Amino acid sequence: MLAGACTVRKSHSFESVQAVAKALQPSYPVHCVRPEVLEESARRFVTLFPGRVLYAIKCNPHPLVLGALYRGGIRDFDTASLPEIALVADTVSDARSYFMHPVKARAVIRSAHKVYGIKVFSVDHLGELKKLYDETGGEGVAAVVRLKTPPADGTLYHLAAKFGCEIPEAVELLTEARRLGMQGGICFHVGSQCMTPQAYTQALGMVGEVIEGAGFDPVCVDVGGGFPAAYVSHKTPPLEDFMAAIRSGAKAVGLKPTVELWAEPGRALVASGCSLLVQVQLRKDNQLYINDGIYGSLSEMSQVQIKPPARLLRLDGAVAEAQERFTINGPTCDSLDVLPGEFDLPADLREGDWIEFDQMGAYSNALATHFNGFHPETFVTVHDTPPSRLASRLG
Ligand SMILES: *Cc1c(COP(=O)(O)O)cnc(C)c1O
Repeated sequence: MLAGACTVRKSHSFESVQAVAKALQPSYPVHCVRPEVLEESARRFVTLFPGRVLYAIKCNPHPLVLGALYRGGIRDFDTASLPEIALVADTVSDARSYFMHPVKARAVIRSAHKVYGIKVFSVDHLGELKKLYDETGGEGVAAVVRLKTPPADGTLYHLAAKFGCEIPEAVELLTEARRLGMQGGICFHVGSQCMTPQAYTQALGMVGEVIEGAGFDPVCVDVGGGFPAAYVSHKTPPLEDFMAAIRSGAKAVGLKPTVELWAEPGRALVASGCSLLVQVQLRKDNQLYINDGIYGSLSEMSQVQIKPPARLLRLDGAVAEAQERFTINGPTCDSLDVLPGEFDLPADLREGDWIEFDQMGAYSNALATHFNGFHPETFVTVHDTPPSRLASRLG
């Protein structure tokens, strides 16, 4: 059951983004959450993946997002801190959290286990396994060993640079966990927005080597996140190809049906489920100044090649057909606060117009700072078709 945090007040629910602009005429950025899109995306992943699906909450922890994913069938959450665990517990009362950060403070392990009843923790070093055993006693606890996988082609972020151990260490950790009376699992992360399904097959091959070295089966094999979102700016293989690669990888290493498969998608579940509505505060020739930027919810753009589809919204009157190229500046005083690249928008764009950036559900509000007093914190729900889908239908 969902607690109060996930209920939406009627006044915050709109039939379209146009209706949001009309009702609020917002001079502040507004996150437009599309619950039906999130639900559908969760349902699709849960249906396609041959195992348990944990949502990586860091990607977008907003309660409206958690509520929609819950309705789409998500009951398991990949968390990395006590505040994330508390948020899941407070928002989604029959959900299970898993502590998938390989380095944790002792007091945090203790609280996670005793206060929140967390039973699954990831580790990538003997020192961390010892901490886990000391602080929990090990009974009924599973240590999921994080394996380092080689960088996959075309990922936006490499997530094995900081965490993960090599195959011999993983064998040692699994063996030691078992000696201490704990259950053992194996996990990895191929990198975010992974474009090559074979990366999962390869990583599962390494998992096979670990199992062979240990001489016994883990309770779970967790293929992590990294599944790509269908960004308009990227040509991504379909989710089905990743599922096929995982099935064939599991088969190739002879993974027994008793070993549960887990996945920890973040981006793929939520990217298309939210957009960001910003307002143009000033136009100087083809330079626009808007009310959100790289220190706010548009920060991921400054790190990696994601260009959200942008469309203009104006309440009073028609918009020019002709387009021009614009540079878009964020609101802070910092000269770095400029969106990379240029955007094609109507030539008569003017102060007071709104721009909707679509596909902004992943690593957006989650990364926003309070720098210079700007912080995007308004969320509404919207029940229309996302512009990126309309565009792809036309194209
Ligand atoms: C960030 C993260 C995820 C989610 O990754 P996506 O690329 O958003 O799918 C999953 N698991 C772990 C351990 C992570 O750190």
